[in-house]
Amino acid sequence: MDLGATVCTPKSPRCADCPLEAMCLARAEGAQELLPRKASRVKVTERTLRYLIVENERGETLLHRRTGRDIWQGLWEPLEVAASHRMKPEHVVTHRLTHRLLRIEIGRGTMADVPRELTEDWRWVPREELVHYALPKPFTKVLPQE
Ligand code: SF4
Repeated sequence: MDLGATVCTPKSPRCADCPLEAMCLARAEGAQELLPRKASRVKVTERTLRYLIVENERGETLLHRRTGRDIWQGLWEPLEVAASHRMKPEHVVTHRLTHRLLRIEIGRGTMADVPRELTEDWRWVPREELVHYALPKPFTKVLPQE
């Protein structure tokens, strides 16, 4: 007898006719209508992000607020550079989001890396004020917060 096709069907299990009723945990717990649960299939994609921590002559750190429809919307982060940017990472952090596995490479930048025009989404932030900015978790570990 194929129990899965004739007795223990996912939508209406016929427990009263089932030879396994006495030993069935689902039946004992009254959960036969709830099982089996479909496993949620989350497709995880990998993404590499590169950042530079840039400090000016006053020791302030350049932060940028993320906008647009992407991860970390509205949060503040160091200067993001293109994936092709040549840099020597001081930190490599992996960070898992629901659908993404991020590899975040963070290095040191200089004033030469800073965009010429900084709009209102950019700030030079004194070290002691970094703690007041909402940063994505990977950066809270590497930015100096006093
Ligand atoms: S007793 Fe258990 S195995 Fe049998 S039909 Fe019910 S749920 Fe399925």
